[in-house]
Amino acid sequence: MTVNEPLWQRPVFIETEEQTMIRETVREIAESYGHAYYLESSRNGKGQAELWSDLGRYGFLGVNIPSEYGGADGGIAELAIVCEELATAGTPSFLLIVSTAICGEYLVLHGSEEQKRDWLPRMAAGETALAFSITEPDAGSNSHNLATTATREGDFYRIRGTKVYASAVDHAEALIVVARSGTDEATGRGQLSLFIVDTNAPGLEMQPIEVEAVMPERQFTLFFDDVMVPASRLIGDEGNGFKILFSGLNPERIMAAALENGIGLYALRKAADYALERNVWGVPIGQHQGVAHPLAKAKIEVELARLMTQKAAWLHDNRLEAGEASNIAKYAAAEACLGALDMAIQTHGGNGLATEYGLATLWGAARLQRTAPVSREMIFNYIAQHSLGLPRSY
Ligand SMILES: Cc1cc2nc3c(=O)[nH]c(=O)nc-3n(C[C@H](O)[C@H](O)[C@H](O)COP(=O)(O)OP(=O)(O)OC[C@H]3O[C@@H](n4cnc5c(N)ncnc54)[C@H](O)[C@@H]3O)c2cc1C
Repeated sequence: MTVNEPLWQRPVFIETEEQTMIRETVREIAESYGHAYYLESSRNGKGQAELWSDLGRYGFLGVNIPSEYGGADGGIAELAIVCEELATAGTPSFLLIVSTAICGEYLVLHGSEEQKRDWLPRMAAGETALAFSITEPDAGSNSHNLATTATREGDFYRIRGTKVYASAVDHAEALIVVARSGTDEATGRGQLSLFIVDTNAPGLEMQPIEVEAVMPERQFTLFFDDVMVPASRLIGDEGNGFKILFSGLNPERIMAAALENGIGLYALRKAADYALERNVWGVPIGQHQGVAHPLAKAKIEVELARLMTQKAAWLHDNRLEAGEASNIAKYAAAEACLGALDMAIQTHGGNGLATEYGLATLWGAARLQRTAPVSREMIFNYIAQHSLGLPRSY
């Protein structure tokens, strides 16, 4: 079976030959970089540029992009494999989620022919990357309250407002920005639109936000001071932003889950190796059930999260309802990953906190996923309302 064959003919739970090939090759590339590279690229501010261009050169940044735009006609299932393998090797990439999954999916599904030709082939080749910016200081999880405005003026839109926590803007050529382009008269709610804005556009200023997470992607506050964006940079129809945003939610959740699953596997492998080798009472510490059982429990939880992630990706790629599965996968993966990483740190005793052992260095990145891109509480809200039929609480 080839990646070009129809998605619905692919089996669930058993990886195709192509998926196995993607997994093995990405693993080889990622392991040649490893966690030391992740730390270095997080601390020198350069990001994972070399890893990124290797992935692009071998076609792994375009697995979810149609072949007419330089990709491999695969889906989120294939991209999630790339994401998981990078994290399993200790060098997770959040840019892969932001650029390839979120921005890539928006362009594939809603971009104009010109936008697709301008961006997708270069994204697939690893020659460029896009950041994504929706979060605002006062809107929080409620996108209806976005205050950044986009006002049409002839062939341009004038963008004004402030965004926070935009990741990797310093490594992106442009970013997809969500802004309020009107107000629904009936409900008073904002009508949203998405724009591709160059990161060097006049009037756009960025200020780094220091966070206590070791990550190659830095975070920025963005000030849009009358940034003029050509109307040709509007994605889809004006005011159609919510519909577009919804189409990207499931891929974003599935990819975040894949990244967490990878960190969980990375932590468990290190923990098991250490538990076999470390001997303080005449036997390896892994022989004590106090160490072995929590590690076994963590392994079970990570594998359950991987199964749900695979199911969610399959549903999404087959154009079936994937909201519930994607939310469950994202929740399960974040919790399983934190459990596995915490137990791996515990297994290492004092060494668990040492930089050299490469575990505590991933704590911030792993913990982030309980909050972003969607928080645990908003997932509970979704499941309570959509899966259990309970009243919406907010
Ligand atoms: C390192 C990092 C990278 C990020 N990268 C990006 C990026 O690239 N682009 C981007 O746009 N954003 C990015 N974000 C922002 C991130 O997506 C948001 O922080 C996240 O969605 C939560 O929004 P908030 O911070 O406004 O929290 P708030 O909405 O203020 O929520 C605060 C708390 O209240 C809870 N809460 C809120 N509403 C409800 C409710 N109705 N019911 C129950 N609980 C509720 C939340 O779950 C949360 O625990 C990033 C954040 C970080 C820290």
